[in-house]
Amino acid sequence: MTKDRPLSHFDIVVIGGGPAGMMAAGRAAELGAKVVLIEKNETLGKKLLISGKGRCNFTHNEFDIRKFAEKFGRNGRFLYSALALFGAREVINFFESRGVKGKAEQGDRIFPEKGNAQDILNVLVKYLAEGKVNILFNSEVTGFKQEKGKISQVLLRDRQISADKFIICAGGKAYPQTGSTGNGYQWAEQLGQTVIAPVPALNPVKTSEDWVKELQGLSLKNVSLKLFQNGKKQDERFGEMLFTHFGVSGPIVMDMSKNIGALLKNGPVKLILDLKPALDFKKVDKRIQRDWGKFRGRMFKNLLKGLLPLSMIPVIIKLSGIEPEKQVDHITRDERNKLVHLLKELELTPTGLLGFKWSVITSGGIALKEVNPNTMGSKRIENLYFAGEILDLDGPSGGYNLQECWSTGYLAGESAAKRH
Ligand SMILES: Cc1cc2nc3c(=O)[nH]c(=O)nc-3n(C[C@H](O)[C@H](O)[C@H](O)COP(=O)(O)OP(=O)(O)OC[C@H]3O[C@@H](n4cnc5c(N)ncnc54)[C@H](O)[C@@H]3O)c2cc1C
Repeated sequence: MTKDRPLSHFDIVVIGGGPAGMMAAGRAAELGAKVVLIEKNETLGKKLLISGKGRCNFTHNEFDIRKFAEKFGRNGRFLYSALALFGAREVINFFESRGVKGKAEQGDRIFPEKGNAQDILNVLVKYLAEGKVNILFNSEVTGFKQEKGKISQVLLRDRQISADKFIICAGGKAYPQTGSTGNGYQWAEQLGQTVIAPVPALNPVKTSEDWVKELQGLSLKNVSLKLFQNGKKQDERFGEMLFTHFGVSGPIVMDMSKNIGALLKNGPVKLILDLKPALDFKKVDKRIQRDWGKFRGRMFKNLLKGLLPLSMIPVIIKLSGIEPEKQVDHITRDERNKLVHLLKELELTPTGLLGFKWSVITSGGIALKEVNPNTMGSKRIENLYFAGEILDLDGPSGGYNLQECWSTGYLAGESAAKRH
């Protein structure tokens, strides 16, 4: 690319040293572009390092592009080209060929073999070094200078940098403590791009019931959770969830949180937890009768161990209204029905989401209709590109969101580096 420019002029400026920005800068440099990566933190990949609880679930074992894209809902089609160029298979190969093997865990989530996010970051840092990418740390972008319908400079607090092309990878608004404070949305709007209002997704959910506090820290596996509004089922998930001091969290709650947040805007919603999804009402009732039949004369409170996790027993006893020391053979049919109901349909009342501070991802962002899915280039400004979470794309937990960053980052870097 251009060799006759002054040193302060770059072929490509990449803004944001997260997964998308590092991949975009690395790929552009690999193709021969002179690249500068601008990051406001003192290090790269702050959020990447805490991803997957520090273990980094960096992609998902799904090589079918359509199936992968479907996970992003209606907007997923936008990802076809990016996934075709650099999908899950290519990402696994990318890291493996650089010494970090992927390992599939429960639910086909792919983690680095040694379970350390730092290994993923190290590969990217090396990739940037190989391409001789200039990295500016502690450098906060404040805006852009536009000339003749193109961007000519990126503005930092203390200087400007000019370049031919600009890739914005400044992330969303989730977990702002890592640097992702939503700055990119403001610039995009100033540059004439439409921004779909960002809202938290993959977010813990606050509930009104006092008893959830007593279950704080309890994780439930293989349960089903249904979301209702006005008596109509709106969503249903099966898997793992967690009780917290404010409400509920864990994979199935997080995956449902975007829908909960959206529905709450229209009115109250209910969550119905089924602790025994493999058994219907009748079977649960029969099992209880069978167990209790064997232990006539024993107290109710002592006969719930096989049915419930220990910490849940006092809560369910309280909610059932059954006297804890009542002999099981004296429990009435109505009382038993109440217990079965609690096991199959335990009600929780969401009051809101925990918000961006504890959100894993942002839903909303740069409107996809104004970005070319084959290049990640803006349809409004010819030398501007976007990649990563800043785009109006959000997937479920399981490595989908980082894959979106790798795919869109790689494609943006490649397109920006190529002469059109
Ligand atoms: C707790 C947690 C766990 C997660 N775990 C997983 C997981 O296991 N698997 C998965 O797929 N996804 C996971 N995610 C989501 C994933 O981390 C994000 O999708 C991903 O980091 C987004 O990458 P990005 O490059 O688009 O943005 P970011 O990672 O947010 O990076 C953006 C960068 O831009 C910089 N920046 C912002 N504004 C400016 C500015 N004005 N000037 C200069 N630089 C700026 C920021 O400092 C930041 O470094 C997790 C997220 C969180 C919060």
